[in-house]
Amino acid sequence: MAGFEEVRVCQRASCGQRYVHRFARDLHMRMYCSDACKAGAYRDRKREERETYRRWQEDQQRQQRERERQEQRERQRRARSGPGGSRAGGGTKATTEAEARAVIYEAAGLMDDGTTTLRKAFLAAARRWHPDTNGSAEAKAKFQQVEQAVALLRRMGVTV
Ligand SMILES: [Zn+2]
Repeated sequence: MAGFEEVRVCQRASCGQRYVHRFARDLHMRMYCSDACKAGAYRDRKREERETYRRWQEDQQRQQRERERQEQRERQRRARSGPGGSRAGGGTKATTEAEARAVIYEAAGLMDDGTTTLRKAFLAAARRWHPDTNGSAEAKAKFQQVEQAVALLRRMGVTV
């Protein structure tokens, strides 16, 4: 019965063991030395996908923070460059649902692209800007802006 057996290498990257593949008994598709490796390879793949997604998210957040810093610098520059440029209170106050959402996501450093719920964005923004934990000069105003945005959304019947 020679030829019905073949030595193969387990396709799970962290295993790489050789195993005997028997054509008569095993499916030709079989690529792993054991069921444990087959399940393990599936888990490895899922973990890799999660890692990739996490890195992508971190990247998005980093870019968002960079944009915020740039906007902040731009606002400061405009405020310094004389009257007409700045509004009372120094911050923009949301008046529409879209503006309120934008305030919350921006404060959280997140994208409003469906990957993070409004509630999670609000919690992230609150954690980031709460004056108890954030000692920066702008924290109080920023936190207030977020609270006002949430209050507005709730008045509009939006669940936050
Ligand atoms: Zn294996």
